[in-house]
Amino acid sequence: MRVSQRLDTINGPGGSDGWEILLQARALAKAGTPVIDLTIGDHDRTTPAPLIDAMAASARGGHTGYAPIPGTDALRAAIAHRAARRTGVPTAPENVLVTAGGQAALFAALMAATDPGDRVGFLDPHYATYPGTIRAVSAVPHAVSLRAETGFIPGSADFADLPPVSAFLINTPNNPTGAVYGADAIAAVATAAPDAWLISDEVYDTQVWEGPALSARAVPGLADRTLVIGSLSKSHVMTGWRLGWIVGPAGAIAAAADLLVNTTYGVPGFIQDAGLHALTGAHHGIEADVTRLYADRRKAALEALEGAGLRISPPQGGMYVMLDIRGTGRSGIDFAQDLLDTHGIAVMPGESFGAAAAGHLRIALTRPRAELTAALRTLTDFAGARRSG
Ligand code: PLP
Repeated sequence: MRVSQRLDTINGPGGSDGWEILLQARALAKAGTPVIDLTIGDHDRTTPAPLIDAMAASARGGHTGYAPIPGTDALRAAIAHRAARRTGVPTAPENVLVTAGGQAALFAALMAATDPGDRVGFLDPHYATYPGTIRAVSAVPHAVSLRAETGFIPGSADFADLPPVSAFLINTPNNPTGAVYGADAIAAVATAAPDAWLISDEVYDTQVWEGPALSARAVPGLADRTLVIGSLSKSHVMTGWRLGWIVGPAGAIAAAADLLVNTTYGVPGFIQDAGLHALTGAHHGIEADVTRLYADRRKAALEALEGAGLRISPPQGGMYVMLDIRGTGRSGIDFAQDLLDTHGIAVMPGESFGAAAAGHLRIALTRPRAELTAALRTLTDFAGARRSG
């Protein structure tokens, strides 16, 4: 039997999801070859004990049955409170849908915002799953390329040729570029797509190093057509727990909840309770600790890269650094493959994040400071040799 065209083409024309280097790194590590893995945005530590304890207490306390599908009242209220605090926009529990991670939130938001065949705009470079997720809802991805020379920040000139779209997906702080969008950049997208939903992926909103930590929902006039994607994966070392959310207009949230009834049937109650503890137990200081960890690694990485002759724009947010290796004359894919083969250092080729990131590398700040610094020095020596060779 054939599988549906929808799934058969989910990875797009090249048929690749862009994670090949990560898979190779994992295979090498499994075979016992030492690898420094700076590919995926996953933490090099496990979830802090107070959250595991909260999860276990909830499960032992009996919260193991089907949980409320839009999310427990308490967790929806906590997320609403967080959103209102960060945006100044009044937000009620009815504006919140709890999902199985930010990725499921992206899928549900796109399902709410589009009909089959609709066009969805997104910015290139982009998070690796965006085109596939747009295709998964039977919509058509339309990339708008940004340029390294403008720091990969969108401006009105970038949208001169934008056809009508039903939704436009943005991501700030941005993975992979590290760009953080100000009000002008968000308004440029919103103005270019005046009748569209704005889906704003803000899963790195606790990692803003420069500039205002602005949510698209807080930009005047946008709250009624904006769906914000959030997650505890990055902020609380909870990648594997699959706990995220959408914040948006109540009607869209209710419709997306119907989707969950027919897909995941909600998020386990004990996971939601741990998420509640993550958001409300401010005394444990987990969010601040994680933010500090990545701020420190970012600083160390920038110091290690200083004077190395590679163009880099210091990330304004997020847990990655983008390196421009176009001066070496190599593609990101070739460079990343060589670096893995010769030095056992795994980084993501920019090409995995779209054509606009070609000739770049994305380095995840996911190893301890000393190891990260040593790997970056090896990488820059390697690039220097390629440049002169
Ligand atoms: N959006 C962006 C920009 C990401 O980088 C990621 C994960 O790396 C996600 C969404 C998905 O996160 P989650 O683990 O919450 O599904």
